Amino acid sequence: MELGGGGRGAGDRVRRQLQSVGRVAAYLGGGFLVLTAASSVAVRSLRALSDANQRKFAMPCGACEGKGSYACRLCRGSATVEWSPMHDPVFVSPCLCPTCDGTRLATSGRVQRCLNCLGKGYA
Ligand SMILES: [Zn+2]
Ligand SMILES: [Zn+2]
Repeated sequence: MELGGGGRGAGDRVRRQLQSVGRVAAYLGGGFLVLTAASSVAVRSLRALSDANQRKFAMPCGACEGKGSYACRLCRGSATVEWSPMHDPVFVSPCLCPTCDGTRLATSGRVQRCLNCLGKGYA
C-alpha cells in the first residue's frame, strides 16, 4: 500500500516538472519572438546608419569627381570656352560654353549620368 502511494507521488512530481518545462519553453519562445523583432529593427536602423555613413565618408567618384555626371567635353567643366575671333591669342576671350550652356555637365539632350557611380557621386 505504501509503495503504491509513493508511486503516485513520483508521477505527480514528473507531471509538475513537465508543466514547468512547458512554461519555460513558452517563455523562451516569446523571448525569441521579441528578439527577432528587435533584431530586425536593429538591422534596419544599422542599414540606414551605414547608408548615411557611406554617403558621408565614401570617396567621391573618380570618374565624375563626385558630380554624378560627366563633365562637359568641350569646356572640360569650366563652363566657358576661350574663343578668339581672329585666331589671335592676344584677343582670346572666355565665353559661355555652347555645349553645356554653362552647366559644366556633359549633355546630349539631358544630363549624362555617370556610369561608374550611377549618378550618386560617390563610389
Ligand atoms: Zn561645356
Ligand atoms: Zn561618378
